[in-house]
Amino acid sequence: ATNEMHLHFPSVSANEGFARAAVAAFAVQLDPTLDELCDLKTAVSEAVTNAIVHGYKDAIGTVYIDCRLLPENKIQVRVRDRGCGIADIAQAMEPLYTTAGEERAGLGFAVMKSFTDKLRVQSKPGGGTTVTMEK
Ligand code: ATP
Ligand code: MG
Repeated sequence: ATNEMHLHFPSVSANEGFARAAVAAFAVQLDPTLDELCDLKTAVSEAVTNAIVHGYKDAIGTVYIDCRLLPENKIQVRVRDRGCGIADIAQAMEPLYTTAGEERAGLGFAVMKSFTDKLRVQSKPGGGTTVTMEK
């Protein structure tokens, strides 16, 4: 049998830790190692932070998280915003690329990629961004 979980919350930074913990609590049923759970939390954190600081840069919007269990004891996590979107996804995913100047490292997508088994980014300017990860 499959299982799933859906969350949505306003894009305020107080919810970053909540979202990370909620996904981790859901993932515990897969009996992950501590390392696997930490990696998942870190990846979710990066995606949620991006939705908050980039997607809804000048406003508060809704961040959506959809989790579901996959065959082979895996989890799929989707983090979605309806914010500004990304014009050039390949460029945005390059390590060290950031539009935030000196404040950010430009490593969020690199972290998501290395800490999960699969990463897919869908986005269009004005249409929001969806990050789908499997672990
Ligand atoms: P860091 O994650 O290291 O703090 P960063 O957020 O700039 O820095 P990435 O997470 O790799 O680095 O994202 C790269 C760039 O992609 C961002 O600077 C931003 O321009 C764009 N981006 C990422 N996520 C979104 C999003 N949800 N909506 C709009 N733009 C995004
Ligand atoms: Mg980031």
